[in-house]
Parts: sequence; C-alpha cells; structure tokens
Amino acid sequence: MASGIKLNLKNMTFLNSKTIIVLGIFTTTAFNCKKDNNTATAASTGTVDITSVIQSNYTGTTTFSVSSGNIVIKSDGLPNHKTPYWGVGNALYEDFPTGYHANVNTSMSAHNYSMTIPSKPGTVTAHEETTLGPIGMALNGVPIYNDREGGNVALDALTITTFDYSGAHPGPGQDYHYHTTGRYTSQDDAKLIGFLRDGFPIYGRKDTTGVYPSLDAYGGHTGPTQDFPNGIYHYHASNVNYLNTGYYVLKAGSYYGTKGTFTQ
Ligand SMILES: [Zn+2]
Ligand SMILES: [Zn+2]
Repeated sequence: MASGIKLNLKNMTFLNSKTIIVLGIFTTTAFNCKKDNNTATAASTGTVDITSVIQSNYTGTTTFSVSSGNIVIKSDGLPNHKTPYWGVGNALYEDFPTGYHANVNTSMSAHNYSMTIPSKPGTVTAHEETTLGPIGMALNGVPIYNDREGGNVALDALTITTFDYSGAHPGPGQDYHYHTTGRYTSQDDAKLIGFLRDGFPIYGRKDTTGVYPSLDAYGGHTGPTQDFPNGIYHYHASNVNYLNTGYYVLKAGSYYGTKGTFTQ
C-alpha cells in the first residue's frame, strides 16, 4: 500500500503541465476519405459554424469573443457543481465517493484560462496526438484532460481514487480538470460536454438516437446531434469502463482537427 502511494506521488509531481501554447494553423481545405457510415460527411470539412452553439451553451464564469474566424473562450476553471475539492464548509462541498479521497493535491484555485478555436472547425491530414494538459474546455469552463497523468503515463487505478463524482481532480497547480465522464459532464447519455481544442464538440457515450455509435480512430464520427441537426464531426466519450472503475475516459489519442491554443 505504502509503495503504491509513493508511486502515485511521484507521478503526480509531474502533473504540473506548463502552459502549452501552439499556434493553430486553421486549415480547412484538407479532408480525408476515412470510412464513415453517415452520408453527412461534407459537414465535417469546415463548413459548420459552431459560434451560436458556443454562445448558448457555455455557462458560469465563461466569456467568449469572436474574431477573424476564431472563437476565444475564457474561464476561471472552477466548477459550478459540488466537489470535495471546494473544501469542507463551502456550500458546494460534498464528500468523495466511498473509498475515494484526496492525496497530495487537496485544493483548487481560479485560473485565467483562454481557449482559442476555429469557428468553422475542419480536419487535417496530420492528426496531432493529445498530450498532458488541457485538451478542451467543458461547458462550465473546466479544462478537459485526456487519459494521461503526471509523467505522461496512463491514468492508473490509484490516481482514479482521487476523482470526485464528476471524474475530476486538481493537479499540483490547483488546476481542477475532468478526465472522465461523471455527474456533471455526462453519464450514460448524449449530453454536450464541451469543445476540444480543434473546435469539435464532445458528447456523452450515446447519440441522440440512444445508440452507442461506432467511432473512428479519433473517437468521433460525423452525424447529426441535438445541437447540429444537419450534422457535424463530433467526439464521444469512450464507451469502455476504464479499469472497471465506472468512469469513462472523455477523450484519448489524436485530435481530428488542428488544435488551437489553450493558455493559463
Ligand atoms: Zn489529472
Ligand atoms: Zn455521435
């Protein structure tokens, strides 16, 4: 037990991912001919404008602006829902799930997050891997992380015991973030969770039709959603019960499009 905790501490030490700033090249001309069982594939190549969906769905402390084909969403990164990480005494405090607990990172604080994404997201031929750190932003302004933890290793069972009911925890930088589905983002449903850094939306495990869609190598597919009835490329949370924990990773692997910036 003790050695397991030590291992985890070591991993968590490296979690403090410094700001990753990469200038996005918003190429919208490229498209690939991957198999897709939906006929609405044209919608994925940079023709669908996501601005109005962003406007009507982002909440809490988030603000946004639009300029030259890009949307900038800003947030303080704090959740608008209950979590033990608010601390005992806070109105939004609730205990951990049974058997779960904080370890080295017990608190969270406000940040100055700013995510820039294209208003008409398109795909690219070279699909960049997601990395440790923010890969997107949930509708309440909380960063979305992939399935990696400090040291860029896959989330392990011990790290997951630091999650709250929403599949989230703060890192050493007091940066609260979602790795998986949970009470806030999505459970077994088709809810819109947020947008990733390439501008494509991410949904729960189901489509609006109630089925679990078959997904491509990027964890998404093209088709209609409740927000984009004419179809758009969109991600879904993984449908794999991660390490049998009851949590489902939101997004792993490569981006479908070109990632924009996410600064803090
Ligand atoms: Zn984490
Ligand atoms: Zn879908």
